[in-house]
Parts: sequence; C-alpha cells; structure tokens
Amino acid sequence: MAYQVVNPYTEKIIQTYPLASAAEVADKLDVAADFYNRQKQVPVEERAAQLQLVAESLLANSAELAQTATLNMGKLSKEARGEIKLCAKLAQYYASTGASLLEPKPYIYGGSRQALLQQDAIGIVLSIEPWNFPYSQVMRVFAPNFLVGNPVVLKHASIVAGCAAHFEKVLLQAGIEPGAFQNLFVSYDQIATILADKRVQGVALTGSEAAGRQIAALAGQNLVKSTMELGGNDVFAVLNDADIDLAVQDAAAARLRNAGQVCTSAKRYIVQQDVAADFIAGIQATFQNQVLGDPMAATTTLAPLASKGASDQLQQQLDQALAHGATALVAGGQVAGMGNFFAPAILTDITPDNPAFYQEFFGPVAQVYVVPDDQALIKLANDSNFGLAGAVYSKDTTHAHEVASQLETGQVFINQPSGAYPELPFGGVKNSGYGREMSDLGLYEFTNQKIVVFK
Ligand code: NAP
Repeated sequence: MAYQVVNPYTEKIIQTYPLASAAEVADKLDVAADFYNRQKQVPVEERAAQLQLVAESLLANSAELAQTATLNMGKLSKEARGEIKLCAKLAQYYASTGASLLEPKPYIYGGSRQALLQQDAIGIVLSIEPWNFPYSQVMRVFAPNFLVGNPVVLKHASIVAGCAAHFEKVLLQAGIEPGAFQNLFVSYDQIATILADKRVQGVALTGSEAAGRQIAALAGQNLVKSTMELGGNDVFAVLNDADIDLAVQDAAAARLRNAGQVCTSAKRYIVQQDVAADFIAGIQATFQNQVLGDPMAATTTLAPLASKGASDQLQQQLDQALAHGATALVAGGQVAGMGNFFAPAILTDITPDNPAFYQEFFGPVAQVYVVPDDQALIKLANDSNFGLAGAVYSKDTTHAHEVASQLETGQVFINQPSGAYPELPFGGVKNSGYGREMSDLGLYEFTNQKIVVFK
C-alpha cells in the first residue's frame, strides 16, 4: 500500500507516495554501501563540518519544515519550530564534540604493552521512526551515524512521508554526500528483505512495543545489532515537600505537549497525600482550560491527534478504563466535528485489575494516584511494564534524588519535566526497549569497537 499523508486538522488527503520497487531499494542500498566504503578514507572532521552545514540548513528552512510537520501530523506550529531547533542542536552537538569522542582510547596490557580501541563504522543502519517527532527522531539516528561513517536508510512512519521527503531534501541541500541518508518508502515485507542484506549491520527502531518485538526478532534472525526506543508509562512523582505551583504547571505541560503523544509524557501522576488536593485542583483547572483549534494558530494550546486511528484507539482505552471502575476527574474524549480533536481527560481510582493500569495512553489522558509515603510511591511507580523516564518533585533535592535512585527507568528528572538533550543519554529499560540515543553513548551504538593490539 502507498504511503498516504492526511491533514489531521482538515482530514483531507494531502499526498500519496508510491511504494519503492525492489529494484529501487536495491539501488539505494548500493549507493549507501558506496558511501560506507568511501568514508573509510575520509577523516571524521570532514563529516563533522558537513553536520554543521546540516544544522544551518535546518534552521534556514525551519518555517517550511515546521509547516510540513503540522500538515502531516498536526503538531502545533510553535512545537514544530522547537523540534527543528532540537534537530539543529543535535547536529551541532555531534559536529563539535563527535571527533574527540571518536578518538582512539589507549589500553595497556601484559604489564606495559599498548593497544588502541577504535570506533569504526560498521555499515548501513536502517532507521525505523515514528510520526510523533517526525524530524528529531530521525536526526537522533542520522547525526551520530553520519559522523561515524555509517550510511542511514530511513523507513519513516507512513503518515509523515511528507516530512521524510522534506528532511531528505534539506540534508541534500546542505551538501551531505550521496548515500549518506536516503528515504525508503517501503512495506513491512520489504523491511525483512532489507535486514537480510549483509551490508545492513544495524537497525534503530523508535515506536510501539509491538513493532519492537517484530523488528528485534528480525534483527536477531539476521544477527544485526539493534536499538529499541519503545513506549513508556512515565511517572510524575509529587512528594509532600514539593513546590505545588511548579509541579502543577510542569505536570500539565508534560502530559499535554505534542497533544500527549510523547513516549516520555507524564502519563501517571503519583502524588503524596498532603499535597494531593491542591495538586488535583490545579491540574483539573489546567486541563479544562486548553484551547483546541487550528494547529497553525498561535492561540491554540492543544493540537488534534495525528490520525483518526490514534484518536479511536485512545477513546476505546478511555471507555475501557471507565468500564473497569476508573473515575473521570475531567471527562475529556473525542470531539465531534472537523479534525481529530481529543479533549484532555484525567482518570483516578485505577486499580491493578483495570487494563488502564498497565497500558500506555498515547494522547492527552492523565492518571492520578494518591499514596501515603515514599515507599508506596516507589512500589507503584515500579509496578509497570515500561521503564523509560520520569520526574520527581521535591524542594529537598537530596530527598528527590533518593526517590529517583529507586525508580526503574532509563532517565529521571528532578524538579523539571523529562526532556531530550543532545548531551544526555536517552533510552529505557523493560518493555521501553534497550540501547541509548544521543550523547556519547548514542555515538557508540553502531560502531565496531575494534581493539588494535601492539606487540
Ligand atoms: P508504531 O506503529 O510502532 O510505528 C513506528 C514505526 O515502525 C513506523 O515507521 C511504522 O511504520 C513502523 N512499523 C510498525 N510495525 C512495523 C513492522 N512490523 N515492520 C516494519 N515496520 C514497522 O508506533 P507509532 O504509533 O508510530 O508511535 C508511537 C509509539 O512510539 C508509542 O508507543 C511511543 O511511546 C513510541 N515512541 C517511543 C520513543 C522513544 O524514544 N522511546 C519516541 C517516540 C515514540 P508505519 O507507519 O508504516 O506503520
């Protein structure tokens, strides 16, 4: 089936892109393999300089790229521009620090003999990405791999094919070498063929748990290195000694950003008894005051969901949660009329036998749990199939750190909502996946850590 782009606000089809033929895919893999072979003789500093040009080109095309994102998946204009800035920062981070991070590391063995650990390129990396951050998710994989010398082929989410095409165009305008980055509009079956090609040595997937299981299995069959950035059910912990005004403001932003379609959204508010009433009152007011509307308009605070399918699925989860005994503190739900609008909802009284207890809600639906103390908070937080990120709020940083240290997640933020920073590792544990993106760790995911041993 062709890739089809539908505007989530008008629900009109914008464009369709045909699937690539087997011959087109084979040609692109040949071009990618040529890039890999050529780069072995090219110093990393040259690719770092090209990455700097990529950053500049992204910023110069920011308004147009942002508009494409809004038209493809409904993101608010200002959020889309913020995403382009993050992409540029990622490119700049690797452009400025990458060469030193790739310096060979000396080892001593057998008393005083020397060895050097090199970070060599390994081959083509397949990047399979979701629609919710249609540029920055791609950049997280492209920037480090380009620097190393690994060509990247992208299978983007079909609903944001326009973003994929626009991103590739801007990269080529910036002057990156042919074969360094190529879009593949391919089917799931074609993905299996691509992963079986021996020149493909890595696959980075960001997406759902279901997709993770499929792609990790294919990677395993082909003995190809993989990273999995999957879903989350992140905790936003509010301790009795928290600054409640700050917690309310950040909790709402962390749940409603990108219309709630963020892997690290604050999906479960776990609040201690003494501050629960104030926190809940604040959150209710903020959720009820959201302005739903045209994502291009500056006055809109909550965008439509990315697709009709996403909205239907969220409504189904909400209905199921209520049918199993949850209480709605704010009712929310699908909004009739034009656009995939979903009014924000807040649920409480969710017991472990309610399916909602373990599910990820990928949209503006928050859950509230009230607990007596730290131990109850930590136990509830860790009773999750996911382990991506989280946040802990307390005026006492030592106290917040004590709680943060006991959370089973890849990232915890203190007195701030979780975010993405090029300098910091990003990734999860449990069903949130494995591997890390961004930072030095992201640079080494798809390298041959080769030891050269001197006599
Ligand atoms: P999705 O349905 O899993 O899709 C993600 C990507 O995988 C898309 O490109 C999709 O292509 C592709 N895909 C899905 N199944 C596949 C298969 N069997 N074979 C080959 N490709 C396959 O996820 P989504 O709904 O777009 O994104 C939402 C999920 O991503 C949420 O769970 C969210 O938490 C997670 N996410 C995680 C992170 C993170 O960093 N941990 C970041 C963002 C999002 P099609 O579009 O063609 O189906």
